[in-house]
Amino acid sequence: MSGRKCPAKVYDSGAMSSHTCGRAAAFEFGGRWFCKTHHPPTVKAKDEARHKAYTDKFNAEMARNAAARKAAAEQARRAACFDDLLEALQRLMQHANWMESCSHDDEGIKRDIERASAAIAKAEGTA
Ligand SMILES: [Zn+2]
Repeated sequence: MSGRKCPAKVYDSGAMSSHTCGRAAAFEFGGRWFCKTHHPPTVKAKDEARHKAYTDKFNAEMARNAAARKAAAEQARRAACFDDLLEALQRLMQHANWMESCSHDDEGIKRDIERASAAIAKAEGTA
């Protein structure tokens, strides 16, 4: 052992003060010697890993939020179609039942079919 000591400055918890690492320095970098923890390539790799973990976590959170917003918007869109769909289909069924019972031709059924078609198109998102 060379007796070299790591010169890295270590901040104490709260970062109000610091001290020199002082551990055995066995790793050379740029003409200076460091302990394994403070060897600059190790520090850089740890920083990069920490940054990547943070970025991955942030991106995953953003993707979850976007998916939740999309799901909520789709739910609201469907809810907005509900009354029109129900009413249009109820009227269509009344006409269908009436036509079946009296075998009568009626202009009203054409309007109701158009109305049901419009409600269905709205529900499908094509209106
Ligand atoms: Zn050190």
